Amino acid sequence: DGVPATPAKNLFVVDSPNVQYTDDTINTKYTYRTTAVSKDANGKFVAVPKETLYDFKVDRKIPKLGVMLVGLGGNNGTTVTAGIIANRRGLVWDTKEGKRAANYYGSVIMGSTTKLGVDSETSDDINIPFHDLMPMVHPNDLVVGGWDISSMNLADAMDRAKVLEPTLKALVHKEMATMTPLPSIYYPDFIAANQEERADNVIPGTKASMAHVEQIRKDIQEFKAAHNLDKVIVQWTANTERFSDVTEGVHDTAENLLKAIEGGHEEVSPSTVFAVACILDKVPFINGSPQNTFVPGAIQLAEQHGAFIGGDDFKSGQTKMKSALVDFLINAGIKLTSIASYNHLGNNDGMNLSSQKQFRSKEISKSNVVDDMVAANTVLYEKDEHPDHTVVIKYMPAVGDNKRALDEYYAEIFLGGHQTISIFNVCEDSLLASPLIIDLVLVAEMMTRIQWKAHGTDNAQAKYAGFHSVLSVLSYMLKAPLTPPGTPVINSLAKQRAALTNIFRACVGLEPESDMTLEHKLF
Ligand code: NAD
Repeated sequence: DGVPATPAKNLFVVDSPNVQYTDDTINTKYTYRTTAVSKDANGKFVAVPKETLYDFKVDRKIPKLGVMLVGLGGNNGTTVTAGIIANRRGLVWDTKEGKRAANYYGSVIMGSTTKLGVDSETSDDINIPFHDLMPMVHPNDLVVGGWDISSMNLADAMDRAKVLEPTLKALVHKEMATMTPLPSIYYPDFIAANQEERADNVIPGTKASMAHVEQIRKDIQEFKAAHNLDKVIVQWTANTERFSDVTEGVHDTAENLLKAIEGGHEEVSPSTVFAVACILDKVPFINGSPQNTFVPGAIQLAEQHGAFIGGDDFKSGQTKMKSALVDFLINAGIKLTSIASYNHLGNNDGMNLSSQKQFRSKEISKSNVVDDMVAANTVLYEKDEHPDHTVVIKYMPAVGDNKRALDEYYAEIFLGGHQTISIFNVCEDSLLASPLIIDLVLVAEMMTRIQWKAHGTDNAQAKYAGFHSVLSVLSYMLKAPLTPPGTPVINSLAKQRAALTNIFRACVGLEPESDMTLEHKLF
């Protein structure tokens, strides 16, 4: 734990009058170019190019970062922990297919590159690892801890998960065995009854209370102090809860929500109690499951405290494919008319989802993922017209963590013809989710070190401010992206990646990546 953070590689500098580097910060002046549209008297659109001037300030000091997972002893919790240890120690292990080495495949930050620009001599693209675009924390440096209602140490929990190769497990066993989750809060009604027998590590009390909020805050502070951390990020990767029944006077405002917790209201979920505890200490909290943790009062509380929140539900397999494929079909001018999505899985998540109320949370989060893409195409779809869309999930213990997703996309093509695309997607669920957990931590942490102010004439601000509490920039990793109240949800995977890339580029003083490549087209 005494090891200093991995320094930024500083692979490039931006040589521009708009960019200034100090030892502590990168300061940029950025012109954000958009198009404002109105209608004239004849109902014709008038599109006016618009410029907004922003100052961005990026804190270059990479903090010592802790991540606390709620559900640490689960499949995702143990897999991501073992994965970080394996990477940190550069482990290599034998498999029936030969040797395998630790990597961060599946992490957009660690496993993908982004175009910096074009070589001024050869005209070749210069691509750099996404991680090097900004001074980001390296995941090898993350200190992992957290809570679980199951007291099993992480070595045994890793065996229970049945995800990793035995040879890899043997190499991390000793370190994992030293890690035991902190007791957590358990309100049995929120998760499936079939989870009860693992709940042997619980803080007393079966409904929300301020004592629970205070205990979580204390746990975070103690973890931070014990490991000498500058910052902690908390992420819910515990079981999917049922939706809480949101009511006025209970969940609608920050004040009412705090009162409801104080009064032990039965419709306040454990995940909301965790969120509130984090918000009160400005600890970023990310929800990796589908339930409605962020009731309106929780969002308001985050806004009041300037705390960051993000959610909901990791976008790892079927929905990630969907948000890429539907974007392709509709933007190709093909009229998607139905999506039938079926899954079966055999891990503990699947067992929990075999209960109707918990399945319902998942069904909701998987259902709305094409709405914005459909609504944007006024050529193919009438107002309020939607493709048929159904989602089925079944528990099949034999397949374990190797989730199967079958999707049929049915579309109408030229002159009444049809196109049917069938996808059979088999993936080790936790091996897809773990890199997302890392990305969410790295991006959320980076967002805590970016400040902005408008510096034009119309709306100049004297002081720097942070981004909005609801970090919609995390959408790429999330199935049902939470956005600031009243703002649109973007589900298209390509747009989500472009937003992430271009916001980071802006913060270091680079123009958005437009893909026009005029330099190769106009000579
Ligand atoms: P899991 O069941 O293996 O792990 C969940 C863990 O949470 C268990 O160890 C359980 O004991 C613990 N838990 C339950 N309630 C708790 C509480 N109140 N406090 C602390 N711990 C608690 O599930 P998993 O496969 O690791 O998935 C975790 C979550 O991530 C699920 O909700 C799942 O729907 C969601 N998710 C997973 C994926 C994926 O794995 N690809 C994708 C999207 C969403």
